[in-house]
Amino acid sequence: MRHRIAALCILLAGPVFAGANDVKLACWIVGNDGGNTAFTSDGVSNLVQGVNEIYSQVVLTFVIDSISYTNNTYLSDLTYTNAAQKAAICNITNNTGGLELYFIRSLNGRPTAFNRKTGIVIGPRANARTVSHEIGHSCGLPDIYNFYRGTSLAVYGAPSKDRMIDDWGWYPSSVSHSNIVERLLMYGFRSDVKADIPYGDVFGLHYTNSWNSASHTWDRVWFLDNAPVGFGIHGSRNPTSE
Ligand SMILES: [Zn+2]
Repeated sequence: MRHRIAALCILLAGPVFAGANDVKLACWIVGNDGGNTAFTSDGVSNLVQGVNEIYSQVVLTFVIDSISYTNNTYLSDLTYTNAAQKAAICNITNNTGGLELYFIRSLNGRPTAFNRKTGIVIGPRANARTVSHEIGHSCGLPDIYNFYRGTSLAVYGAPSKDRMIDDWGWYPSSVSHSNIVERLLMYGFRSDVKADIPYGDVFGLHYTNSWNSASHTWDRVWFLDNAPVGFGIHGSRNPTSE
């Protein structure tokens, strides 16, 4: 948010050319055995253009380094609960030096896209906001929520400088703090308004996963405080997929 003026200057300057600080994207369109895909190369280009409009807030640009194709039904039609299938998709390519994006044919399960250390998987219902959100995770930012089933913690009340110390002043006082959380790019639920990238941290509901050695499972531990979603403080400007 703080860099809105700088972003505007880039838009006025015309096309953005690949530079040393741009993030390279290795894009894979994954079709089934019959060669049917959910995405075209134009569709991928349009999504990346939408991602760049959102990241112009922090003057970060993503450049398509390659668009490749592969046809394999096991890799194209994912059931989200199948961990082996997810790992296989993300291993189509590795260590390209930038981010690896896999545009699959179908994603059966709750998310429209998701992120792993080894790449970002994008299903047919994803839009530029969801792809940008997953890239935000690759940059190191967590999800932020205003409420979540399973915890009584929730965001109430009005925004204040304490709740968004580096971004105070951008929103009208008539907006609730919960509404502001819904506008943030790292808002964890699907939203048609999320896109804002704050410079600093913002008060909200967030979690970390803590290993439970008794049950041998990851427990979700919730916090209601200043969530580390500030790109200026926590965002990596050179995210990479393994
Ligand atoms: Zn998320």
